[in-house]
Amino acid sequence: MSIPLLDLKAQYLSIKEDIDKAILNVLDSCKFIFGPEMKALEDEIAAYCGTKHAVAVANGTDALVLALHACKIGPGDEVITSPFTFFASAETIANVGATPVFVDIDPVTLNIDVDLLEKKITSRTKAIIPVHIFGQMADMEKVMKVAEKHHLKVIEDAAQAIGAEYMGQKAGSIGDAGTFSFFPTKNLGGYGDGGMVVTNDDQIAEKIRILRFHGSKNKYYHQEVGFNSRLDEIQAAILRVKFRYLNQWNAARRNKAEIYDQLLKPLADEGKLILPGKDPRAYAVYHLYVLRTDERERLAMALDERGIACAIYYPLPLHLQNAFAYLGYQTGDLPVAEEACTQALAIPCYPELALEAQEEIVKVLYSVFES
Ligand SMILES: *Cc1c(COP(=O)(O)O)cnc(C)c1O
Repeated sequence: MSIPLLDLKAQYLSIKEDIDKAILNVLDSCKFIFGPEMKALEDEIAAYCGTKHAVAVANGTDALVLALHACKIGPGDEVITSPFTFFASAETIANVGATPVFVDIDPVTLNIDVDLLEKKITSRTKAIIPVHIFGQMADMEKVMKVAEKHHLKVIEDAAQAIGAEYMGQKAGSIGDAGTFSFFPTKNLGGYGDGGMVVTNDDQIAEKIRILRFHGSKNKYYHQEVGFNSRLDEIQAAILRVKFRYLNQWNAARRNKAEIYDQLLKPLADEGKLILPGKDPRAYAVYHLYVLRTDERERLAMALDERGIACAIYYPLPLHLQNAFAYLGYQTGDLPVAEEACTQALAIPCYPELALEAQEEIVKVLYSVFES
């Protein structure tokens, strides 16, 4: 049996007719940029997230850059984020000229440890970017409390968490702004790049609309220097078809995760594995199902031998990346994130994954610990 980490082909085949039709409609309309599909997707996602605005952009990285600009973050400012995430979460802070400040992570959810947050706040701190890693929500109650107390902006990096909830509120809708990525492998993935910012703040939304279009509100009149960051109509049309299935697919991911949780519990009880942690206040959407184990290498080899894909998320925390050497962090500074990077292993968990495949994967995991 060959089992991929994610089966985009199976998903496409399950909705092929609607996807193909949506693409052909765009071709037929010959409206490729800034058209009705993008506008409709913005309205649908704003309604879904319960936010006043949604602004489509070219990718999830741009969504963060533009949200940071709209929050007036720039040179001299510090922005606190997690070291255990995809590079873009912090790269974007540096890209607007600000300084990323990393806080260690919570050993249960692998999201920023809110109890360490206040120690990192200085007079230069302007914002916090909590990342809802693997679709598990950060402790937004505490993040918002700290942010309010210190007058900080909060930009949720919800690239991996569209549809997740925290105390009934959708990921992205709790902070000043929230960002999504429609990279093909994300829970709502296009067939190319795409991204979005959601916000309840009229000024932030307006600013991002201007920035994404060369700093212009009216064509050929530019009030500032901006960017070219747009979601094209073909991607928007594809995403609108897939968006109709998002809740169902997220529920299916949760169901697969629950099956793993049950089947792997004995190994976790014996201390051989750490299963993905949960926050009872949150509805997680399992962008990835990430185990932690000291036997990662043996597990990965055994899975590979049987044609089962697995992957390391993430091999190196951001504070130890060469690109951030200038920040001066040392090994040992953020021990929980560093340990997670030596233990984390994602196993297949996607809506189309069959129960027999999960059972096969679990069997391989047990065989490693029994040998
Ligand atoms: C994917 C991702 C991004 C970047 O999104 P792109 O669309 O690839 O630019 C940012 N943050 C996190 C946590 C991500 O997983």
